[in-house]
Amino acid sequence: MNYSLQKCPFCFGHQARLIDQEMGFKVECQCCNANGPIKEVRIEAIESWNSLSEEIAKACNEHASQYATKLKALAQKLAPLSTRIQS
Ligand SMILES: [Zn+2]
Repeated sequence: MNYSLQKCPFCFGHQARLIDQEMGFKVECQCCNANGPIKEVRIEAIESWNSLSEEIAKACNEHASQYATKLKALAQKLAPLSTRIQS
């Protein structure tokens, strides 16, 4: 198992730190102050932070592929128009 911290999903910085506080543990980005959820167990705080990072990356990839599909469709619509302008 790899319990190293993923980069911050909000600022993409590599300054995430595990914080030990009264209520439990959480991961906090030292760059943008983003917080992971507070957990009783150290490893759970790390896993929550890392899964947050993966979920956001996945959501970004899905958005990017949706835009790519829309752009391709738009390019196909514009292609005949471009030919007409050039002739
Ligand atoms: Zn950050």
